Amino acid sequence: MSLIVSLAMSQQVECIVDGCHGVCEGETEEEVLSEVEAHVQEAHPDLTLDEETVGAVKAEIETV
Ligand SMILES: [Zn+2]
Repeated sequence: MSLIVSLAMSQQVECIVDGCHGVCEGETEEEVLSEVEAHVQEAHPDLTLDEETVGAVKAEIETV
């Protein structure tokens, strides 16, 4: 008997841009943030991920 399904917790955050329902997820906060960075570059090139924005993203991260 083997357990294939990973039971590891993951972290996720919904994009902080109004009207965008993109969700970024990863195993750690760092992974989530790098996903957010990639998403922002692709979907919101005008948005700058400064300290304040990253702080807002971090505050929204939830463990699922
Ligand atoms: Zn977005």
